[in-house]
Amino acid sequence: MTRPVRALLKWSNLRHNYRVAKRRAAALAYAVIKANGYGHGLEACANALASEADGFAVACVDEGVRIRSAGFDHPILVLQGAYNAEEWQVAADLGLQLVVHHEQQLQDCQGLEFRYPVPVWLKINSGMNRLGIRVDDANSIIIQIEANDNLQLVHVMSHFATADEADDAFFTEQRQIMLKHDWPVPLSLSNSAALMRDESIAEAVSRPGIMLYGSSPLAEKTASELDLRPVMSLQSALISTHEVAAGEGVGYGHSWVAERDTRVGVVAIGYGDGYPRHAPVGTPVNVAGVECPLIGRVSMDMITVDITDVPTAQIGSSVQLWGELVDIDRVAALCGTIGYELYCQVTPRVPRVTL
Ligand code: PLP
Repeated sequence: MTRPVRALLKWSNLRHNYRVAKRRAAALAYAVIKANGYGHGLEACANALASEADGFAVACVDEGVRIRSAGFDHPILVLQGAYNAEEWQVAADLGLQLVVHHEQQLQDCQGLEFRYPVPVWLKINSGMNRLGIRVDDANSIIIQIEANDNLQLVHVMSHFATADEADDAFFTEQRQIMLKHDWPVPLSLSNSAALMRDESIAEAVSRPGIMLYGSSPLAEKTASELDLRPVMSLQSALISTHEVAAGEGVGYGHSWVAERDTRVGVVAIGYGDGYPRHAPVGTPVNVAGVECPLIGRVSMDMITVDITDVPTAQIGSSVQLWGELVDIDRVAALCGTIGYELYCQVTPRVPRVTL
């Protein structure tokens, strides 16, 4: 028997979720597939969306190179832009679109000769205070870009700090800062959360990420309430079952002690596969179609679950950690994290299998 851990990937759900984003978008939607497609596979995501996506967004030039090398000729936006002159040159050669978020990047490309101007998205810091030029400094940067024959300013963009939160005060403030200013080129503002909020934003390009993978971008709404479907199902199987008596401890440190006689299922998955080590007792695990609580501490290659209420469960019974049967956002909340991190942490040891 081969080790039963798999990340099953249903690409029709990625396309479905992209269509949900597209219906909310005012115009174009670039699919954000950075960080190896949020752990789902960069080229695989590009391939699955090739016939529908208006463009792709990645974090760095290297990721753009990978998509171009795989043969995709879509617009590709590099969200952190170029780090140095060499990256400017590579981006220019491959027709990548670069975010400029700092004046230093304009100095880095001085003296280079590009065959065609590089399309540039100017990133404005409207309150996130991570990357971007302050609104008051934007005009001087715009003048520099427009004076450079090697560059073509195509969009002004910004990123929201609190679009996922129910309280919309700061979100509204950021949106207003961007919408009330008179920009020389069309805007790009929305991530998934901004797209799925009630009010739509007049913009040329939105940039949905997490919602494409079927995780809810909004704190107060579940993925299924937003008609989003999970792309990844993280699967494994029981590799052992046994009984412990009330009072016996299970796993490292005996951090869980049975309150009743308990049937324990041992699942082949652990933090060595990216299952979160800090998942608490009670985290839902679906065993043979029935939701069971995690018990004991997560080990590198195994977890233990209480399968007392699933008499049919036996060695080989299928187990789902998250996916179509277990909402990843529930698991993430119990672990004090977000679906984004759980997806990205699935390690290379886990084979990605197309359903
Ligand atoms: N735009 C930018 C600039 C981002 O950094 C990200 C993700 O971090 C996104 C869009 C996509 O965000 P989300 O995955 O929340 O939709």
